[in-house]
Amino acid sequence: MSSTATRAVETLLAAFGPQRWWPAETPFEVCVGAILTQNTAWTNVEKAVANLKKAGMGDGRRETGEAQFVAGLGVERLEELIRPAGTFRVKAKRLMRFCRWLIEEHGGSLDGLFGRSAESVREALLEVPGIGPETADAIALYAGGKETFVADAYTHRILARHGWLDWESGYDEVRGWWMDGLEKDAALYNEAHALLVKAGKEFCKAKAACDACPLKPMLPEGGPRERERW
Ligand code: SF4
Repeated sequence: MSSTATRAVETLLAAFGPQRWWPAETPFEVCVGAILTQNTAWTNVEKAVANLKKAGMGDGRRETGEAQFVAGLGVERLEELIRPAGTFRVKAKRLMRFCRWLIEEHGGSLDGLFGRSAESVREALLEVPGIGPETADAIALYAGGKETFVADAYTHRILARHGWLDWESGYDEVRGWWMDGLEKDAALYNEAHALLVKAGKEFCKAKAACDACPLKPMLPEGGPRERERW
């Protein structure tokens, strides 16, 4: 019998069709997007990435050259280019640290980083200051094709409202719930996360719009379980 996680993802896939995330031209661009997307809308990230590309990122450089190029911009120029992504000073520092780390530890090559197990890639990324679990998982999954799940706020909210996990659960519990329930497959984790984000953005917002949502038949008796407020 299929798991609840599998049924939820299959239901969303039937309703929305394949999402084919992440929208980027190179794995390095995925890393940049994953670092810039923290606490901002994706449209703002797109503007920042477009600025970086206009300045020369990508531009036939591929992996080794891309990290060197961004690191070589210097913090001030980087701040200017990524300004549309919001909290640009903090994000410029994070991006710079990531690039320098990639150059120092892996010769600037993502191949060097990704040539190991998913857990090992994740642990390595978590050592970089400013990279938390969600960003590490996004980079490992979407840039590296590693078998790990991005347990962001959307995926947590859906679980909690359906009563499949508590609102108080932490990042690792949410990630573990999805990974335990889905077949171990990076392409499936990739598609599942993208579908859950779409459901979250369109229906499972701060105020749930369950009547129009494809996951409505999977709700517990009595409707969605909202977070208790004191
Ligand atoms: S909007 Fe309602 S039915 Fe849809 S995922 Fe959220 S809680 Fe479930």
